[in-house]
Amino acid sequence: MPELPEVETMVRGIKTEITGRCILEVELCHCTRRPIQISPSPANFRRLQKERVVRRVSRLAKRIVIELDGDDFVVIEPRMTGLMLVSDPPTVDHRRVCWHLKPKRGRVSSFEFWDRRGLGTVRLLDAAAMLELRQKLGPDALTMTAADWKKQLSRTARPIKVAMLEQKLVAGIGNLYASEILHKAGVSPKRSAARVTGPMWERIADATHHILNEAIRYEGSTLSDGTYRNALNKDGGYQNEHRVYQKADQPCPTCDKGTIKRIVQTQRATFYCSKCQR
Ligand SMILES: [Zn+2]
Repeated sequence: MPELPEVETMVRGIKTEITGRCILEVELCHCTRRPIQISPSPANFRRLQKERVVRRVSRLAKRIVIELDGDDFVVIEPRMTGLMLVSDPPTVDHRRVCWHLKPKRGRVSSFEFWDRRGLGTVRLLDAAAMLELRQKLGPDALTMTAADWKKQLSRTARPIKVAMLEQKLVAGIGNLYASEILHKAGVSPKRSAARVTGPMWERIADATHHILNEAIRYEGSTLSDGTYRNALNKDGGYQNEHRVYQKADQPCPTCDKGTIKRIVQTQRATFYCSKCQR
């Protein structure tokens, strides 16, 4: 958390406000908690962004990419608890970086990165470093066809759910949506990726589009810890639509015969129905 739908929601939330705007000053907020990773050095990070114009805001897997004029990129990875905001933050204590913008009538005067646990990273990359980062990642989950899925994952013998979290194979999916997608696709999370059949890859590709687009429409999932918020510091709504995630011992919403089980795969919880996921 946040995964593709939450990061896409953050991008959409800040994009209209900050595209075309000029950065006046970057403030590294005073924070007594575990510091986030910033690169290059804080002084250079601040200096290099002064007077630069935001050309474009986009998403790269689970990262927010702010493209500046002159071909540099601010890449923000929220990891566990990071948020991009154009409004007051949930707490003042966990504000990390604030970008002050040249004033424009009727528009926000700043945007910021907030991170409770401090595992997030904020980096300024040149075009070559940006290209290198793109090349490390697999195709974006939202654009993948069944053929792409097969090409990327069918050579690994690991369980399909574990392989789905590998960002160099498929980019954007995390622990929550992996369980949701496999349940909708009717594929067992324990099945070896090498043994997923052609029709199963079709169902996985379809379920991925369906689940991720629906979660974007609901502006992501705010779990019981309440951490994830959209750019206006409001809850997402997709947590009310989850089929299996954190629903152990509840009846399966698809088949009525099964009960949702919780298992652990590579130290992460997986939720599934053993009756309708094969
Ligand atoms: Zn079921």
